[in-house]
Amino acid sequence: MANKNYINGVWLDSSDGSTSKHYNPADLTEVTGIWPKSTVNDVNSAIDAAQKAFQPWSRLTVYERAEYLRKVLFLMRQKTDQIAEIITTENGKTISESKGEIKSAINEMDYQINEGIRLAGEIMPSERDGVLAYSIRRPLGVVAVISPWNFPFNVPCRKITPALITGNTCILKPANLTPGVGAAFVELFDDADLPKGVLNFLTGSGAVIGQALVNSPVIKAVTFTGSTEVGMGIHRTAANNLTRTQLEMGGKNPLVVLADADLEKAADSAVLAAFSCAGQWCTSTSRTIVEEGVHDKFVELMLERVKKIKVGKGTDSETTMGPVCGKDQRDGILNAIEKGKAEGADLVIGGNQIKDNGLANGCFIEPTIFVNVKTDMFIAQEEIFGPVLSVIKAKDFNDAVDIANDVKFGLSSSIYTSDLQKALTFVERTDVGLTHVNIPTAIKEPQLSFGGVKSSGCGIPEAGHTGVEFFTEHKVAYIKYR
Ligand code: NDP
Repeated sequence: MANKNYINGVWLDSSDGSTSKHYNPADLTEVTGIWPKSTVNDVNSAIDAAQKAFQPWSRLTVYERAEYLRKVLFLMRQKTDQIAEIITTENGKTISESKGEIKSAINEMDYQINEGIRLAGEIMPSERDGVLAYSIRRPLGVVAVISPWNFPFNVPCRKITPALITGNTCILKPANLTPGVGAAFVELFDDADLPKGVLNFLTGSGAVIGQALVNSPVIKAVTFTGSTEVGMGIHRTAANNLTRTQLEMGGKNPLVVLADADLEKAADSAVLAAFSCAGQWCTSTSRTIVEEGVHDKFVELMLERVKKIKVGKGTDSETTMGPVCGKDQRDGILNAIEKGKAEGADLVIGGNQIKDNGLANGCFIEPTIFVNVKTDMFIAQEEIFGPVLSVIKAKDFNDAVDIANDVKFGLSSSIYTSDLQKALTFVERTDVGLTHVNIPTAIKEPQLSFGGVKSSGCGIPEAGHTGVEFFTEHKVAYIKYR
């Protein structure tokens, strides 16, 4: 694999030769790669290649397309260790988290190939005699895939598989921080001899090439995962050409713990979903909302667990939490922690950058918990996207639900309780795209849709059956046969 763009089946430098350097978040003095800083000309070449490839690709049978994708799946399984190292080097997460990400991608890809094969229209009785009335589903055309750095392998896979199996062609623009993971993903398709132009890949700045993709009238759909701010901008621009959008955005996911909960399991769940991947999951638990009577005990149980987290380089087998992904991310998180302190929340653990044990050059932050957090504080309202957990006291179940819903985001939520009535009422009343009972906020499975509501998501959600729905349009036929 070269550190290059991939356009029309060829690995290329950017058209003006410009490049940018990328650094290891575990040690910012280490350059992980030099990658093309693509231009609008490169965007146009990729769009041209994808447009030319669309007709032949969409006219293959779905079984023929599936054959290519199954080859990719086979290679993905074979190359898991190699790709996991690239994820850890660019993103910082531990090797075992990187392998977990690839495993999820494999499961989702497998599922989505089959969703494409069983894609169905409808046959309905006609008003007229001798008329067959039915609908079919058709691909949209060229699709832009704009992905983030936190799940740099799984997110492109979740988007590109349903797009390709239904007959679309794609251009992938990975996050600027993780170009190598994007290239490793695309290389699998190159190795599987995917026809030229069906999948193209451009590295560089979102503000330049991402924007140019979204601006293009040739692009029929944009599937995006990232921040709410950028997602809203994409939505506005795409509207100019009536381009379809699928936006998966931020979260401020609550875990409600009631007095009747199994507190040990609830504490396991909070710590797992708050600090895995250094808190950089869109479905991380970032607020725990705890009934007053068990608040102190619950905090004590969380602290016991957090003290056992071993922060270090993702490549070190002892490490259970790696660095956050880059200097900007690190500084933003430390800034949010300062805001929490200034607003009067009580820091009970963490709060600092880690500079000892050879970690001074990296982006390591202590797992951090604030208690006595009030709902109107910055750390209760805004996505921090790092290892920072806010604990909020609730008077009772109804108060907990109100607090859980009192944010602009609506991605994931969870409740720990042994009361079935309260559990089911929570499922009904929580304003999110996915919710859980006695299961961590971060859990999702391939067979069901994944997406948020409110400022967390817009458009037909990813995964499950809706994964292929987004990438197809309906066409209706009336056929007089008698
Ligand atoms: P950003 O929104 O900054 O970037 C996401 C992607 O959009 C990147 O590829 C970026 O490119 C690109 N981009 C940036 N500006 C533009 C633009 N003007 N036009 C088109 N594309 C653009 O988010 P991050 O990558 O920093 O990811 C972190 C955020 O993503 C968090 O808020 C997190 O919650 C959210 N997220 C949500 C998920 C979900 O499923 N709901 C999953 C994962 C993350 P570049 O990197 O070059 O700037």
